[in-house]
Order: sequence, then structure tokens, then C-alpha cells
Amino acid sequence: MKPGEKLKYERPYLKKLNAGMMNKFGTPGTVKVTKEIEGVAVRDLLEQYGSPLFVLSEKQIRRNYQSAVRAFQTRYPSVQFAWSYKTNYLNAVCNIFHQEGSWAEVVSGFEYRKALGNGVKGDHIIFNGPGKHKKDILLAVENDSLLHIDNLDELYLVLEICDATGKKPRVAIRVNMDTGVYPLWDRFGFNYENNDAWNVLNKIVSSGKMQLVGLHCHIGTFMLSVQAYRIAAAKMCDLAMRCNKILNNPIRYIDMGGGLPSTNTLKGAYLPGVDTVPSVDDFAEAITSAILDYGFKQDELPMLVMECGRVLIDDAGYLLGTILANKRLSDGRQSAVVDFGVNTLFTSFWYDHTITPAQETNAPVENMAIYGPLCMNIDVIRESVNLPLMNVGDQVVVHKAGAYNMTQWMQFITSRPAIVLIGDNRQVHQIRLAETLEYMEIPEIVPDHLNLK
Ligand SMILES: *Cc1c(COP(=O)(O)O)cnc(C)c1O
Repeated sequence: MKPGEKLKYERPYLKKLNAGMMNKFGTPGTVKVTKEIEGVAVRDLLEQYGSPLFVLSEKQIRRNYQSAVRAFQTRYPSVQFAWSYKTNYLNAVCNIFHQEGSWAEVVSGFEYRKALGNGVKGDHIIFNGPGKHKKDILLAVENDSLLHIDNLDELYLVLEICDATGKKPRVAIRVNMDTGVYPLWDRFGFNYENNDAWNVLNKIVSSGKMQLVGLHCHIGTFMLSVQAYRIAAAKMCDLAMRCNKILNNPIRYIDMGGGLPSTNTLKGAYLPGVDTVPSVDDFAEAITSAILDYGFKQDELPMLVMECGRVLIDDAGYLLGTILANKRLSDGRQSAVVDFGVNTLFTSFWYDHTITPAQETNAPVENMAIYGPLCMNIDVIRESVNLPLMNVGDQVVVHKAGAYNMTQWMQFITSRPAIVLIGDNRQVHQIRLAETLEYMEIPEIVPDHLNLK
């Protein structure tokens, strides 16, 4: 406070204290403060790039990637990762993964072209997804990419393209199956249990027009069951073995998709994610042992492809922001308004994100709600979280925000913030500018009769 400044008035209220529980005196020692990220001060980052701001750690992305690859490669002879573009398709991010040896996994023509633009070779792009356009399939066929067929209409379209171009594309099918985790993701691909998958494999091979090289599944996302992957891998092996033996068509790779959970905490979870989520090693053990135990001859062992997304990047991303206002709710509970909403931190719909203050504080810890700045009732960052009271202008750090936010964010009410990547030696690289009004209005057209200027 400046000398002579008056204390802000806040209506007093009574609150019952429960012994042993978090109370108005706080629980000493439990408030973590995040003053810097990879050695760079949060305050400096916000001052230079504006608030809010996404921050990514290059070191953490590489660490995650290398340890995941190690988990699989130490257990299985042939492993290839393909970066799931939709998880975070900033070119700088994709290129870290490509530099580490990852292929690209894309689910639209837009993402496909992004991968090509990043210099990924066509035969290192996996084209997934239930809604591929003809022109995009054509492009993928021209580039010898791996086409993962989702449905019969897509198969007929690919057959048409084979006839028209005379090319023999390399294809796989997406398979869905019962892994004991419900609801089943049966809207993607062909079902295993009812033989749809087997029938379509027969169709593909008997057409003689494509090269059936792989089998693909992606059984869900933020999967907490290691056993589900063991079951899925065994069912994929069964199909692969039948292709090898009955159709005389050796399967070169089994693609087990992604879906491995990050250590974020799902909404409504009783315990924090860090304490409950199985490790990448656990998943690697289940998948590789299921394939190795299945009985392939050594020279028949398919390559194992993994399309991990969130587990490789969630904990390498942060969202920094600023307190805009504090207010008491009608029941006496504290709340704070921050300068980022669910439009920016899209994953707050599913996760109870950890939020820490970015400055030292002696303020008492209180249970509070953290709201975004949108004039919308759904704009809740945390419904209930224990944090020290902060002042307007104080800064906060949201943790584990690296997956899906920088792709699923919405341009809604506010514009999207800048993104920086912290590289070696605390070097800060801006990898995306904050969006501006001018940028957002580029695609807009105002007809002459509505131009009021
Ligand atoms: C989204 C997606 C992934 C990545 O999923 P994560 O849950 O982020 O690991 C991988 N493969 C396919 C086909 C996907 O749709």
C-alpha cells in the first residue's frame, strides 16, 4: 500500500472453523509458490509477453518423449512414435517431436498439410480420422502416406482413387473393440467382436488394389486401465495373425494409438492424478508383453506404432495469468476473477488444474472459486480450490496445460494469448503471437450496404 492510501472495505462475515481442517489461518507450508519456470521469472514473462500467456518447456517435452520411447524400446525390438498433431500442432512443438524421431499422426487435411509443411516425409505421416475428404486422400496417396481407413464409405472412396490413379496405397484399418472400459469407442473404425474388422480386411486383400500393411486402434483417451491395452493388443495380434496365416498378407505394424493419461487430475477424481495414474512403463509392459507373448515368429513380429499425445506434453505446458478481481459470493465464500477463461484454458472442462500463486504470500489460505473473465456462467476455472488470498494484479500459474489447450482454445469474447517456448539456457522463444482484432477480422467481409464508416 502507498502511504495515505485507504484500506479497501470488505464487509465482515462469520465463518465456523473446524479444528484440524484447512482454516482461516491456513495450513502452514502447504502453499506452493511458482516464481519461475525453467529458471525464467513468471513476472518477467508476463511483463514482456502480456497476460495471460502460455509457456512450454522444450526440455520437459524432450524428457517426456525420450523416456516414453525408452519405456517401449527397452521392451520391444521395433517401435515408432507418431506425434498426435491435434494434441498440440504448433509448428515449433511438432518440430521438437520430429527432431526426436517422431512421425506425424494427423486427422484432417489441414493437419496433413501442416505436417508436410513441417518437412515430414509423406511416408512418415499417418492419416487417421473418420471424415477424410477425397482431395486429402488423393494427396496422401500421392505422398505414399499411411492411410488408416475408418469406414466402408471411405474404403469405397479409396478404391475409386486406386482405379483413377493406378496407385496401390499403403493402408491399415482402424479397429474398435471391447476392452472392458465403457462406453466403447465404437464409432471409430470397424468392430472386432462382430467380425466387421475381419470382413473388411478380407475385402481389402481380395480387391488386390491396396497394400494392407497395418492395423490401428485408439481405444480411448486418458485411459486409466493398463489391462484395457493388454486386451486391445491381444485382439490386434489375433487379427494380424489371421492376416498373416489365412490371407497370406503379413501385417507390418500394429498401431496402438494414444490415450495414455497425463498426471493431471480429472474432475471428480477422489485422489490427485499424480497418485493414481499408471506410468508409461506400466502401459508399455502391458502392450509389449501381450504382443511378444502372442506367438509371432521373430521375423514376423510387427513394428509397434504409438500415437501418444497428452502424456508427452501436458506437464510441459503452463498458463500464466493475473488476478483481475476478488469478490465474496453470497454465501461468504471467496472467489477470484482471473484474466483467462475456459475459452483459453479449454481443459478446465475436464481437469481440476493445479494453480499456484506466482509471488510469496503470507495471506491465509481459503477455499475459493476461480472464475474466468467471460460473461458466461460456465466460465469456471476451478469450482473449489484452496489458495491464499491474492491481490488484484497478483499472478498465478496453471500447471499441466500443454495438451489440447493450444489447439482446442476458442476465439470467444477475448482473443487468444501469446505462446513462448523456453529452450536451452533459459532462452525464451516466442512461438506464437497474441492474436489481435485486425488478425481476427481478416476473413470477415462487410457488404457495402452495411458499411457504416
Ligand atoms: C487424439 C488421438 C491420439 C492422441 O490421443 P491422446 O489421448 O492425447 O494420447 C492418438 N491417435 C488418434 C487416432 C487420436 O484421435
